[in-house]
Amino acid sequence: MLSTVVFDADETLLDLRPAVTGGLVAVLGEMRRLTPAAVGVSLADLESDWDAVFGDLASAPVAEIRRAALARSLARAGLGGHLDELAAIFFARRFALTRPYPDVLPALAVLRERWALGFATNGNSRAERCGLTGEFAFEVYAHENGLPKKPAPEFYAAVCVAAGVPPTQVVHVGDNPVFDVVGAQRAGLWAVWLDRRGDRLPAGVVPDATVSSLAELPAVLASLSGEADLPPQFRRQSGETSCVDV
Ligand SMILES: [Mg+2]
Repeated sequence: MLSTVVFDADETLLDLRPAVTGGLVAVLGEMRRLTPAAVGVSLADLESDWDAVFGDLASAPVAEIRRAALARSLARAGLGGHLDELAAIFFARRFALTRPYPDVLPALAVLRERWALGFATNGNSRAERCGLTGEFAFEVYAHENGLPKKPAPEFYAAVCVAAGVPPTQVVHVGDNPVFDVVGAQRAGLWAVWLDRRGDRLPAGVVPDATVSSLAELPAVLASLSGEADLPPQFRRQSGETSCVDV
Protein backbone atom coordinates (compact mmCIF):
# COMPACT_ATOMS: atom_id res chain seq x y z
CA MET A 1 0.00 0.00 0.00
CA LEU A 2 1.35 3.41 -0.92
CA SER A 3 1.32 5.78 2.04
CA THR A 4 3.78 8.61 1.54
CA VAL A 5 4.47 11.28 -1.08
CA VAL A 6 7.83 13.04 -1.02
CA PHE A 7 8.51 16.16 -3.04
CA ASP A 8 11.66 17.57 -4.55
CA ALA A 9 11.98 21.30 -3.78
CA ASP A 10 13.63 23.46 -6.45
CA GLU A 11 11.68 23.70 -9.73
CA THR A 12 9.16 21.17 -8.37
CA LEU A 13 7.54 23.06 -5.47
CA LEU A 14 9.59 26.26 -5.66
CA ASP A 15 9.94 28.69 -8.55
CA LEU A 16 13.66 29.13 -8.04
CA ARG A 17 14.81 30.82 -11.24
CA PRO A 18 13.26 34.29 -10.64
CA ALA A 19 14.56 34.19 -7.08
CA VAL A 20 18.14 33.47 -8.18
CA THR A 21 17.93 36.16 -10.83
CA GLY A 22 16.63 38.62 -8.24
CA GLY A 23 19.51 37.73 -5.93
CA LEU A 24 22.07 38.29 -8.66
CA VAL A 25 20.48 41.62 -9.64
CA ALA A 26 20.81 42.74 -6.02
CA VAL A 27 24.47 41.67 -5.97
CA LEU A 28 25.18 43.50 -9.21
CA GLY A 29 23.54 46.67 -7.87
CA GLU A 30 25.72 46.58 -4.76
CA MET A 31 28.85 45.89 -6.83
CA ARG A 32 28.14 48.97 -8.94
CA ARG A 33 27.53 51.03 -5.83
CA LEU A 34 30.89 49.93 -4.44
CA THR A 35 33.02 50.57 -7.49
CA PRO A 36 32.82 52.08 -10.98
CA ALA A 37 34.78 49.04 -12.16
CA ALA A 38 31.60 46.97 -11.86
CA VAL A 39 29.84 48.91 -14.62
CA GLY A 40 31.41 46.55 -17.13
CA VAL A 41 30.06 43.47 -15.31
CA SER A 42 26.70 42.13 -16.50
CA LEU A 43 23.99 39.85 -15.16
CA ALA A 44 25.01 37.36 -17.85
CA ASP A 45 28.55 37.41 -16.40
CA LEU A 46 27.23 36.54 -12.95
CA GLU A 47 25.08 33.74 -14.38
CA SER A 48 28.02 32.33 -16.33
CA ASP A 49 30.15 32.31 -13.18
CA TRP A 50 27.79 29.72 -11.66
CA ASP A 51 28.19 27.55 -14.74
CA ALA A 52 31.98 27.99 -14.62
CA VAL A 53 32.35 26.67 -11.07
CA PHE A 54 29.53 24.14 -10.96
CA GLY A 55 31.33 21.28 -12.70
CA ASP A 56 34.11 21.07 -10.12
CA LEU A 57 31.75 21.51 -7.17
CA ALA A 58 28.67 19.55 -8.26
CA SER A 59 28.65 17.37 -5.17
CA ALA A 60 29.24 20.30 -2.77
CA PRO A 61 26.52 22.11 -0.81
CA VAL A 62 24.67 24.64 -2.96
CA ALA A 63 25.65 27.54 -0.69
CA GLU A 64 29.30 26.64 -1.20
CA ILE A 65 28.87 26.56 -4.98
CA ARG A 66 27.12 29.93 -4.87
CA ARG A 67 29.91 31.49 -2.81
CA ALA A 68 32.50 30.21 -5.29
CA ALA A 69 30.48 31.70 -8.17
CA LEU A 70 30.12 35.02 -6.36
CA ALA A 71 33.87 35.09 -5.60
CA ARG A 72 34.51 34.76 -9.31
CA SER A 73 32.03 37.55 -10.08
CA LEU A 74 33.48 39.93 -7.48
CA ALA A 75 36.99 39.35 -8.82
CA ARG A 76 35.80 40.80 -12.13
CA ALA A 77 35.57 44.21 -10.42
CA GLY A 78 38.35 43.93 -7.83
CA LEU A 79 35.84 43.33 -5.03
CA GLY A 80 37.27 40.07 -3.72
CA GLY A 81 37.29 41.40 -0.16
CA HIS A 82 33.52 41.83 -0.11
CA LEU A 83 32.47 38.19 -0.49
CA ASP A 84 30.75 37.77 2.89
CA GLU A 85 28.59 40.89 2.57
CA LEU A 86 27.67 40.25 -1.07
CA ALA A 87 26.84 36.61 -0.31
CA ALA A 88 24.56 37.81 2.50
CA ILE A 89 22.82 40.18 0.07
CA PHE A 90 22.39 37.38 -2.46
CA PHE A 91 20.91 34.86 -0.03
CA ALA A 92 18.61 37.38 1.65
CA ARG A 93 17.12 38.38 -1.69
CA ARG A 94 17.03 34.82 -3.05
CA PHE A 95 15.10 33.51 -0.05
CA ALA A 96 12.78 36.53 0.07
CA LEU A 97 11.81 35.82 -3.54
CA THR A 98 11.62 31.99 -3.39
CA ARG A 99 7.96 31.01 -3.25
CA PRO A 100 5.87 27.97 -4.25
CA TYR A 101 4.32 27.70 -7.69
CA PRO A 102 0.58 28.56 -7.65
CA ASP A 103 -0.49 24.88 -7.83
CA VAL A 104 1.52 23.79 -4.77
CA LEU A 105 -0.38 24.82 -1.64
CA PRO A 106 -3.80 23.76 -3.01
CA ALA A 107 -2.40 20.36 -4.04
CA LEU A 108 -0.71 19.79 -0.68
CA ALA A 109 -3.95 20.63 1.14
CA VAL A 110 -5.83 17.96 -0.84
CA LEU A 111 -3.10 15.33 -0.64
CA ARG A 112 -2.65 15.75 3.11
CA GLU A 113 -6.05 14.19 3.68
CA ARG A 114 -4.84 10.85 2.33
CA TRP A 115 -1.03 10.83 2.33
CA ALA A 116 1.90 11.53 4.61
CA LEU A 117 3.84 14.33 2.89
CA GLY A 118 7.62 14.84 2.84
CA PHE A 119 10.14 17.32 1.45
CA ALA A 120 13.53 16.17 0.15
CA THR A 121 16.11 18.36 -1.54
CA ASN A 122 19.71 18.47 -2.73
CA GLY A 123 19.69 22.25 -2.30
CA ASN A 124 19.45 24.85 0.44
CA SER A 125 15.79 25.81 0.00
CA ARG A 126 14.70 25.34 3.61
CA ALA A 127 10.94 24.84 3.63
CA GLU A 128 10.42 27.47 6.34
CA ARG A 129 12.34 30.09 4.35
CA CYS A 130 10.39 29.49 1.15
CA GLY A 131 6.73 29.80 2.09
CA LEU A 132 6.27 26.12 3.09
CA THR A 133 6.37 26.27 6.89
CA GLY A 134 4.48 23.38 8.50
CA GLU A 135 3.49 21.75 5.20
CA PHE A 136 5.41 18.49 5.67
CA ALA A 137 5.58 15.63 8.14
CA PHE A 138 9.33 15.36 7.51
CA GLU A 139 12.10 17.13 5.62
CA VAL A 140 15.37 15.69 4.28
CA TYR A 141 18.32 17.86 3.21
CA ALA A 142 21.46 16.63 1.44
CA HIS A 143 24.70 17.33 3.35
CA GLU A 144 23.02 17.18 6.76
CA ASN A 145 24.88 14.48 8.71
CA GLY A 146 26.99 13.86 5.60
CA LEU A 147 24.06 12.75 3.47
CA PRO A 148 25.05 12.59 -0.23
CA LYS A 149 22.88 14.27 -2.87
CA LYS A 150 20.27 12.57 -5.07
CA PRO A 151 20.47 10.30 -6.99
CA ALA A 152 22.56 8.49 -4.35
CA PRO A 153 20.68 5.51 -2.87
CA GLU A 154 21.75 6.70 0.58
CA PHE A 155 19.69 9.84 0.08
CA TYR A 156 16.55 7.85 -0.69
CA ALA A 157 17.24 5.45 2.16
CA ALA A 158 17.29 8.48 4.47
CA VAL A 159 13.97 9.61 3.00
CA CYS A 160 12.41 6.25 3.87
CA VAL A 161 13.87 6.33 7.38
CA ALA A 162 12.39 9.82 7.86
CA ALA A 163 9.06 8.59 6.49
CA GLY A 164 9.15 5.52 8.71
CA VAL A 165 8.00 3.21 5.92
CA PRO A 166 9.68 0.93 3.36
CA PRO A 167 10.54 2.30 -0.13
CA THR A 168 7.66 0.39 -1.72
CA GLN A 169 5.23 2.67 0.15
CA VAL A 170 6.84 5.92 -1.03
CA VAL A 171 6.18 7.97 -4.16
CA HIS A 172 8.79 10.58 -5.02
CA VAL A 173 7.73 13.57 -7.16
CA GLY A 174 10.32 15.72 -8.91
CA ASP A 175 11.35 17.60 -12.05
CA ASN A 176 14.76 16.05 -12.71
CA PRO A 177 14.64 12.80 -14.71
CA VAL A 178 17.90 11.46 -13.31
CA PHE A 179 17.98 12.76 -9.74
CA ASP A 180 14.27 12.47 -9.02
CA VAL A 181 13.07 9.61 -11.24
CA VAL A 182 15.96 7.23 -11.89
CA GLY A 183 17.45 7.73 -8.43
CA ALA A 184 14.16 7.08 -6.67
CA GLN A 185 13.30 4.01 -8.74
CA ARG A 186 16.74 2.47 -8.24
CA ALA A 187 16.22 2.84 -4.51
CA GLY A 188 12.90 1.00 -4.74
CA LEU A 189 10.58 4.01 -4.53
CA TRP A 190 7.89 4.93 -7.02
CA ALA A 191 8.63 8.01 -9.13
CA VAL A 192 6.36 10.66 -10.64
CA TRP A 193 8.02 13.06 -13.07
CA LEU A 194 6.78 16.64 -12.96
CA ASP A 195 7.12 18.13 -16.44
CA ARG A 196 6.05 21.75 -16.12
CA ARG A 197 7.64 22.87 -19.42
CA GLY A 198 6.88 20.07 -21.84
CA ASP A 199 10.42 18.68 -21.83
CA ARG A 200 11.56 15.37 -23.32
CA LEU A 201 12.73 12.53 -21.15
CA PRO A 202 16.20 11.09 -21.76
CA ALA A 203 16.15 7.67 -23.39
CA GLY A 204 15.59 4.86 -20.93
CA VAL A 205 13.97 7.01 -18.24
CA VAL A 206 10.46 5.69 -17.54
CA PRO A 207 8.63 7.33 -14.65
CA ASP A 208 5.76 5.45 -13.03
CA ALA A 209 3.65 8.48 -13.99
CA THR A 210 4.09 11.93 -15.49
CA VAL A 211 2.19 15.09 -14.55
CA SER A 212 2.39 18.63 -15.91
CA SER A 213 0.89 20.21 -12.79
CA LEU A 214 0.59 19.17 -9.17
CA ALA A 215 -3.17 19.53 -9.58
CA GLU A 216 -3.05 16.20 -11.44
CA LEU A 217 -1.42 14.40 -8.54
CA PRO A 218 -4.43 13.30 -6.46
CA ALA A 219 -5.91 11.35 -9.38
CA VAL A 220 -2.55 10.00 -10.56
CA LEU A 221 -1.60 8.84 -7.07
CA ALA A 222 -4.97 7.15 -6.63
CA SER A 223 -4.32 5.24 -9.85
CA LEU A 224 -0.79 4.26 -8.79
CA SER A 225 -2.10 3.21 -5.42
CA GLY A 226 -4.56 0.81 -7.01
CA GLU A 227 -1.77 -0.59 -9.12
CA ALA A 228 0.52 -1.02 -6.13
CA ASP A 229 -2.10 -3.22 -4.48
CA LEU A 230 -2.20 -5.61 -7.45
CA PRO A 231 -0.06 -8.75 -7.52
CA PRO A 232 3.18 -7.99 -9.41
CA GLN A 233 2.19 -9.94 -12.54
CA PHE A 234 -0.78 -7.62 -13.05
CA ARG A 235 1.10 -4.35 -12.66
CA ARG A 236 2.02 -2.18 -15.60
CA GLN A 237 5.54 -3.10 -16.69
CA SER A 238 8.19 -0.42 -16.67
CA GLY A 239 8.48 0.94 -20.22
CA GLU A 240 4.93 0.05 -21.19
CA THR A 241 3.87 3.66 -20.88
CA SER A 242 5.25 6.79 -19.27
CA CYS A 243 1.86 8.12 -18.24
CA VAL A 244 -0.97 6.90 -16.08
CA ASP A 245 -4.36 7.30 -17.72
CA VAL A 246 -6.86 8.72 -15.30
MG1 LIG B 1 14.37 20.06 -8.76
